[in-house]
Amino acid sequence: MNLKDINALKALLSTPQKIVIVPHKNPDGDAIGSTLGVCHYLQNSGHKATIVSPNDYPTFLKWMPGNEAILNFEKENYQAKDRIKEATVVFTLDFNHLGRIGQMQTILEKSNATFVMVDHHQAPSDYASIMYSDVSMSSTCEMVYNLIEYLGGIDQINADIANCLYTGIMTDTGSFKFATTTSRTHEVVADLIRKGAKNTQIHHNIYDSNRPSRLHLLGCALKNMVILKEYNTVYITLSQDELDTFKYQKGDTEGFVNYGLTLEGIRFAVIFIENKEEGILKISLRSVGDFSVNEFSRKHFHGGGHDNAAGGKSDDSIEETTAYFIGLLENYKDQLTA
Ligand code: 5GP
Ligand code: MN
Repeated sequence: MNLKDINALKALLSTPQKIVIVPHKNPDGDAIGSTLGVCHYLQNSGHKATIVSPNDYPTFLKWMPGNEAILNFEKENYQAKDRIKEATVVFTLDFNHLGRIGQMQTILEKSNATFVMVDHHQAPSDYASIMYSDVSMSSTCEMVYNLIEYLGGIDQINADIANCLYTGIMTDTGSFKFATTTSRTHEVVADLIRKGAKNTQIHHNIYDSNRPSRLHLLGCALKNMVILKEYNTVYITLSQDELDTFKYQKGDTEGFVNYGLTLEGIRFAVIFIENKEEGILKISLRSVGDFSVNEFSRKHFHGGGHDNAAGGKSDDSIEETTAYFIGLLENYKDQLTA
């Protein structure tokens, strides 16, 4: 974060503000962890702060301290709109263009609040007057730790904040294994444990709360896996019928795409998940090494994200989309096999 933005944020927060904090739609551990971390910090510093999530999120994230006060824009619409209307400051965390918040976009675009962006995705748009954007960061939660440090508040990180920030760093780094995990990440995590993050308990809360039907859905996904050895690529499909059969709940398919990358030699893994209600396929893309799934998804699937983890969507059927996908791979053969 540059000095100009740090000073602007310090000045902004030097008097009590009414603040709304927003994660992206379908928030993950990093989005919920970072918004809650910032929320606790701002409230403890004398501001009125509320988190408004564009929609619901998985149960395995709902144990975090402060979770019960998060407003769901779809369910608590009037209350959420009131808070947005009165806001003097809006923090947007873990995303960088307003298209990522669904129906909240039009309402936030009308707001006269000062926007603050904290995010680690590629290609930020310019809606925020105070920006902390860094694609080299492991997670937005690691950035929130830095932000609090820039504001001189490191001693204000209590156990609640530490538990929230630890969660997002852990989930966004695949438990500290992805390439964005640095020695600094580990130093931050060490300090969060020192300040009260219960690392073993957090891991248990996130990863050991499966229902049997979720493991059966995983079995179905793995059975559907198609290996395209000539492109070092794997893809998985899940139809709406299959999701219904295994009593799909939000968050159940989280992490499924990563199984493809555990195969020897595989560099590119994709999952296509049908969503009949929205009339789309939701696509998750992962890679190891130099092949950029962010670029691939931006170009072919209306999406984006990071170099090694991105999302996208398709308006066509599973059969049409996978045929199109396979057809694209020939153009990337050199990158995927070199
Ligand atoms: P996931 O596959 O877990 O949904 O998302 C992987 C990464 O890509 C996350 O960092 C997420 O924020 C980003 N992402 C997911 N879907 C989209 C999308 O539709 N557009 C953009 N720009 N990024 C996405
Ligand atoms: Mn993130």
